[in-house]
Amino acid sequence: MKFGFDIDDTLINLREYAFHYYQEQLDKRVDIDIFHALKRVEIHEAFGLSDEEGKDMWNSSLDFLYFTNCPIYPGALKLLKQLASDGHEIFYITSRPPEHTENTFNWLIEQGFPVQKEHFFCGMKDLEKAGIIKNLQLDYYVDDKPAVLDTLTNAPVTVIVKDQSYNRHLDLPRVKDWNQLGDLINSEMK
Ligand SMILES: [Mg+2]
Repeated sequence: MKFGFDIDDTLINLREYAFHYYQEQLDKRVDIDIFHALKRVEIHEAFGLSDEEGKDMWNSSLDFLYFTNCPIYPGALKLLKQLASDGHEIFYITSRPPEHTENTFNWLIEQGFPVQKEHFFCGMKDLEKAGIIKNLQLDYYVDDKPAVLDTLTNAPVTVIVKDQSYNRHLDLPRVKDWNQLGDLINSEMK
C-alpha cells in the first residue's frame, strides 16, 4: 500500500515547539491552555501579535523551528518504520517553502525516517497537494490542516485527520495520536 504523510503538526509537533520558542523570543509567558484552544493554525494571536507581525515572526523563525529539535509525535517514527519494513511505500508531502526542501529531506533522514528522494514532495501550495496525492494513487493520506483536507473530500484516498484544536469541525476519520493510527491501519489491513 501507499501511505502519504504531511510533516508539520502531523508527524512533528511544530506549532507547540514554535509556541515555546515565541515565549523565549518575546520574553512573554503564555499559558499552554491558550495554545490548546487556538482555532486556527497560526499561533501569533496568543502573543497579541497582528497577522502581519505574526507572519514576519513565523517566517523569521523557520530555520530554527524546522531544523533544530522539534519533537516528533510519540509513535510516529516507529509506525513509519514498521510500515516501510512491512513493504509499504511511504510518501512525504509538505508545503514547507521550496527553499527548505533539501534541508527538510536531510532532517528527516537524520531523525531516522524512512525516506527516499522520489517519495519526498516539498514546496507546493496547500491547494496543490490534492493533485500530487491523486497522481501518486495513495491509499492513505494523513494531514492536520483544514485548507488541505477540504480539497480531499472527493479524492480516491482514505484521508485521516491528525487531531488538532483547529480541525475539530471536520467530519473525517480522526486520530488523537500515532498509536491510535497504528491500530486503525493494522485493523483495516487485516
Ligand atoms: Mg501540517
